[in-house]
Amino acid sequence: MTSTGAHASAETAGLESPVSAVAGVGSARARLLAKRGILTVGDLLLDAPRRHEDRRQFSKIRDLQEGQKTTVSGKVIAMGNKTFARTGRSVFEVILDDGSAHLHCRWWNLPQMERFFDVGDELVVHGKVRSLRPKAMDHPETETLSSVTREADPETLAAGAVGAAGAVDLAEEPSLHVGRWVPIYSLTDGLTQRARRWIAWNALKAFGGRIPEADPDLLVEASRSGWTASADGQQEIPLLAQAWPSRAQAIRDLHFPVSDTDAERARQRLALDEFIALQFEIQRRRLNLESKATALPCQGDNSLMRPFLARLGFRPTQAQNRVLREIREDMGGTVPMRRLLQGDVGSGKTLVAAAAALMALESGYSAVVMAPTEILAQQLHANFRRWLEPLQIPVHLWTASVKSRSEPGLNLGLSDVGLTVGTHALIESSFLPERLGLVIIDEQHRFGVAQRERLLRKGRYPHLLVMTATPIPRTLGLTLYGDLDISVLDEKPPGRGKIRTHLRTPDALPKVWAFIRRELELGHQAYIVYPRILDNGEEDAKSVETEYPRICKALEPHAVGKLHGRMPPEEKERILGEFRAGRVKTLVATSVIEVGIDVPQATLMLIENAQQFGLAQLHQLRGRIGRGAAESHCILMSGKASASSAALASPSAPLPPDPRLKAFSETDDGFELAELDFKLRGVGELTGLAQSGSDHLRFGSLIEDRPLVEFARQLVRRHLRRPPTGHPTTDPSNKAR
Ligand code: ADP
Ligand code: MG
Repeated sequence: MTSTGAHASAETAGLESPVSAVAGVGSARARLLAKRGILTVGDLLLDAPRRHEDRRQFSKIRDLQEGQKTTVSGKVIAMGNKTFARTGRSVFEVILDDGSAHLHCRWWNLPQMERFFDVGDELVVHGKVRSLRPKAMDHPETETLSSVTREADPETLAAGAVGAAGAVDLAEEPSLHVGRWVPIYSLTDGLTQRARRWIAWNALKAFGGRIPEADPDLLVEASRSGWTASADGQQEIPLLAQAWPSRAQAIRDLHFPVSDTDAERARQRLALDEFIALQFEIQRRRLNLESKATALPCQGDNSLMRPFLARLGFRPTQAQNRVLREIREDMGGTVPMRRLLQGDVGSGKTLVAAAAALMALESGYSAVVMAPTEILAQQLHANFRRWLEPLQIPVHLWTASVKSRSEPGLNLGLSDVGLTVGTHALIESSFLPERLGLVIIDEQHRFGVAQRERLLRKGRYPHLLVMTATPIPRTLGLTLYGDLDISVLDEKPPGRGKIRTHLRTPDALPKVWAFIRRELELGHQAYIVYPRILDNGEEDAKSVETEYPRICKALEPHAVGKLHGRMPPEEKERILGEFRAGRVKTLVATSVIEVGIDVPQATLMLIENAQQFGLAQLHQLRGRIGRGAAESHCILMSGKASASSAALASPSAPLPPDPRLKAFSETDDGFELAELDFKLRGVGELTGLAQSGSDHLRFGSLIEDRPLVEFARQLVRRHLRRPPTGHPTTDPSNKAR
């Protein structure tokens, strides 16, 4: 027996037997199934049909509507090949009669189809109604219900792999193929739908009763104790075990459901088991930490916080206050904090980081902040110095190029306890902080979990705060970051100007340059972003190096600077300093500016070749503007100039804009965009992390099944955290002992 969570123990049920243990599977079919990775009975049972077809009642041919996708059944009354002399195209046609009307089934340029049918055969055909006069379907899926020649059905013959001897005996289970919801599988050539269906049926008959429930069975456990779950305000999740099919029932319903809702329910049940297994993994890791580690007492006493807030010049938003309360509670608790702070660009995460650091410092512990780039580390360092040095707190910088100790003369009197800001250079062994109490990682998605752990090991279970501006769709948050508690900054500081986003094609560039000049003359500043540093000869990817001299000229006499990842760090910092000070009005850059840069006077952003950026990235870029009180503009250029449109008398119709960019121009909500990006590009792309856990999911989808993920999380949490004596099967009255 396995006891490692929600995995059914297959060995005990014979599910590990080779597929040939199933009636109807000989060596030829075993080979065909193996091509789809189906080796064991268990594989066979978990190979879900790609869809189901409602064959309880067929549509009447007479009633077919154009464009309708449907299934009909009838008898072949005529068939033949026809070749069009002029084009050389041929069409094979089968005319089907169901007593109400005739349907023409056509296959273009496939004369060999003729071998698969006979006049008098009973067929089921599934497809889209192409026309009504005559009623016709092109290339429908077909299945022979009964054949006058009794040879075999088309797919069997087509592959030639399984001859008449391998054909399914239709007399055996006629009710499998009509009069019910019928499974339609993905096949390998040579295996017919009917054969595959019959094999599934036989496998269920022989092994279906031996499919074990998950161990432990969390659904039963939860319903026994009368526990109620909330599905995070999302759609209702039935909690009681009776409301869910058993695993065995789900696997039966997966293949032969009574209704299509049964099939979906079955998928959800199997998905739930997958999510439960994933949650066991994540939550065990967390529990391990809790049982091993004692938290350092870092809740602070407000002795630094009070003067800090008083000098700040603005009040924390309600969201910032709420998050700080959550953090304080963690840092004063018995278990080291493991918290993820999500806040859209510009929501004020830096202030939260500073305040959290103060809690540690007040308690006599030092704090470390790790940023993803040198530029950001320097920017944060400057920020923290401005905020914390007046409070006599030493603020150090630790990057590959600078390893500073505190400024002489500044001393807190607590040995070397202070705040260090740095890059991944902090992970090096030479960095050894004194009494490390808190690790803050800014813009987490750039760092891997392993790097996070290495920094944490510089202390004895210090508290951890991870901050990210990449909004993480909730399901991902629960899996990828499932071992972290989540706080959300869902409110922007007041007094921010509106950001307007415009989509333009390159035709509009002259107007755009004029617009930028006007903005600069008002004292505003601009970012101009290109996808690459250097040209690579491709027409639709402009580069910083090529455009920079042109822009300098176009915007004369305003000073223009450039910034990209291949410049030396000092040069980057110098340019950014000039830009911050307003001496350089326009920054021509790659997406290096995407993260963290905070210059409130910048109100304009032009992004060329915008289609080359991901949505999440565009959102980060756009987050660089709209930080001051003035209205900001983000202009996205994409597509090709409609050539010589000006010269044409009739204006050419503009191309429809990229739907992604259009969606982007219509919302400023980072979460909405992240969900969209997630749907369009999948998990890996969004987070840049490989270990998403989603690779193991066969039934579950991190995109569609958010309530299930939440439900699984709660089930596992409850299971792992129940009191040790409260075994689910024991009487509750025993719990007292
Ligand atoms: P992000 O969450 O993107 O890291 P920052 O921390 O850089 O955002 O904050 C963006 C800007 O908002 C900074 O200039 C910061 O000083 C300012 N800010 C932060 N919190 C507040 C607040 N409560 N009221 C006014 N301005 C704030
Ligand atoms: Mg930031």
